[in-house]
Amino acid sequence: MCSVVGIYGNENASKLAYYALFAMQHRGQEAAGISSSDGEHIKTVKDRGLVTQIFKEDHFKILKGNMAIGHTRYSTAGDDSILDAQPVFARYGLGEISIVHNGNLVNAKEIRDELIKIGAIFQTNMDTENLIHLIAKNYEKKRLKDRIIDAVKKIKGAFSLVILSRSKMFVIRDPFGFRPLSLGKLKSGGYIVASETCAFELVGAEFVRDVKPGEMIIFENDEIKSEMIFEPTPKQCIFEYIYFARPDSNVFGKNVYSVRKQMGRELARELPVEADMVVPVPDSGVAAALGYAQESGIPFEMAIMRNHYVGRTFIEPTQEIRDLKVKMKLSPIKHKIEGKRLVVIDDSIVRGTTSKRIVRMLKEAGAKEVHMRIASPATIGPCYYGVDTPTKEELIASRLSTEEIAKYIEADSLAYLSIDSIVKAIKDKKDNYCFACFDDNYPIL
Ligand code: SF4
Repeated sequence: MCSVVGIYGNENASKLAYYALFAMQHRGQEAAGISSSDGEHIKTVKDRGLVTQIFKEDHFKILKGNMAIGHTRYSTAGDDSILDAQPVFARYGLGEISIVHNGNLVNAKEIRDELIKIGAIFQTNMDTENLIHLIAKNYEKKRLKDRIIDAVKKIKGAFSLVILSRSKMFVIRDPFGFRPLSLGKLKSGGYIVASETCAFELVGAEFVRDVKPGEMIIFENDEIKSEMIFEPTPKQCIFEYIYFARPDSNVFGKNVYSVRKQMGRELARELPVEADMVVPVPDSGVAAALGYAQESGIPFEMAIMRNHYVGRTFIEPTQEIRDLKVKMKLSPIKHKIEGKRLVVIDDSIVRGTTSKRIVRMLKEAGAKEVHMRIASPATIGPCYYGVDTPTKEELIASRLSTEEIAKYIEADSLAYLSIDSIVKAIKDKKDNYCFACFDDNYPIL
């Protein structure tokens, strides 16, 4: 996942970037960083950890200027060393540059190998560093804008980018628009671009529009210029609606909470079940469960509690930590559950280990029946565009049928929402979205 932010034309640029990153912390919790420019120099502060742990008051004395970019990291490419935290800063022939990137490049290794052959030295494992090299070595082009365009034409995959020079800010979204990126106007002056609009609320910004797939926006001399640098072929990530984005964000032009709730309604229509109560797996199953309950008329109960002091489960890199975190995270309200037939709503099943533990926990708490209903299709393939889904072999639905998974997770029944029902819920053209981890139809490899 990851999140990116760019602030232009505001004297509190780095502080606003900080608040925006705080609002988007759910998109990555391994590391965070901010670069700012005062017109003469770019300064960067980055570290491992949460946004509130990294930044101290003194950092904002360093991060001066009216332009800033920021990033929260969730490792998909590279590793979790501090070197792989963003922004990626460099000095090169035209001065100083700093880049933040959300998404994954599918030809990163190819490009890196070519660059190494001609003598490039890399400091990080991130595909984002390729861009710095491509921009720096293109010395025939005298303008940074031209170098950036040449560089992004060489890379393939998912990229929502914000690039800071000493006096300009460039914003680019790949032609597929895999990852979201929105433009807002700050009430206190200037502009913001951010991965999710939940950041706009916190910093006091009005939503202007989404950055278009294939578009480059340049902020320079207090002006905004836009041009299409790619022919757009939208394939926006459907998983943003299912799981990643915060419910109060609008992504790809729609409110995430409303879409999730509508998916729950479609789930009730497509996959009804006789039950006494609808129970969400908190937090990501809540909106879909509300939709399911309203459509089916079955009462909604928050019968599983979540301990909010533990992070999301599949965001953590190792299996051991993941297992421990599931146990620490969820607990049932026994007197609500005893003797009841439950329809349990979750957003997705990845490895099946979490679902198994939830079903077992509910049965141990006295549930008579547990019917799992999943507000997305079965996840059968990995993501190559910036989401850290496990390998195909680790995805339970790539190996087992729905009936076999039901047996494995010890549920009385299991059913997944179909792609057609998701399309109904989003009320948009299917072709505008990527469903590759569900249908194996990868837009670019
Ligand atoms: S493969 Fe799945 S997670 Fe990745 S961009 Fe496509 S829909 Fe999103």
